[in-house]
Amino acid sequence: MEFAFVSGDPALDLVATVESRRGAAVDLLAAPEDLERWIRACDGLPDEVAVDAASFAAALRLREAIYRLTLERLRGDRFTPAGLAVVNGAAAGPALGVELSDAGLRLSGGADAVLAQLARQGITLLADRLACLKECGRADCTRVYLDRSRGGRRTWCGMDACGNRVKAAAYRARRRAAREEPDPG
Ligand SMILES: [Zn+2]
Repeated sequence: MEFAFVSGDPALDLVATVESRRGAAVDLLAAPEDLERWIRACDGLPDEVAVDAASFAAALRLREAIYRLTLERLRGDRFTPAGLAVVNGAAAGPALGVELSDAGLRLSGGADAVLAQLARQGITLLADRLACLKECGRADCTRVYLDRSRGGRRTWCGMDACGNRVKAAAYRARRRAAREEPDPG
C-alpha cells in the first residue's frame, strides 16, 4: 500500500495512515517497519530511522491524539486534556539534526526526534486559528487536510484519490438515471 502525502501537513498525513476511520478502518501502519517506510517517504524527516516497538506504540498514541484534537478543532470544541498531554509530551522530545553540505540538507535523528517534530508541526497547525482544516468530501475517506486554496474552495483531500472517484460515481449515477427514465413516446 502506498502512502499519500496530500494533507498539506505531515501531522495530518500521519493521522491519515488510518483510512475510512468511520467505516471499515484500514491502518496502513501495522508494524514498526511500516512506520520506517512512512518516515522515509515523508518530506522533512530523516531517511533512515529505526523504529522499535516502544517508539511504534508512542507514534500510534501520538497519531490518535492528533486526530482527536483535530476533530475537536473542526467542531470548535475545547481540546481534551488527555490529547493535549500526549501531543505536548511528544513535542518536548529532542530536535532533529540539520546539516548543510554541497549535496543539500541532511536530516538526522532517532524516532523520538521524529515524533517530536511531528508533534510540533501538529501543534503549530492546531494553534493556527486561520488554518482552514477540512475533512475530505468523499464520505468514506475521512482524511483531514489543510486547504490552502484561495477562498478555501477545495473539496477533496486529493483529486486522484477522491475527487475523480466521486465525479466518476456521480457520472455513472446520471447515466443510470437517464437509462431508467421512461420512454417519452
Ligand atoms: Zn479524500
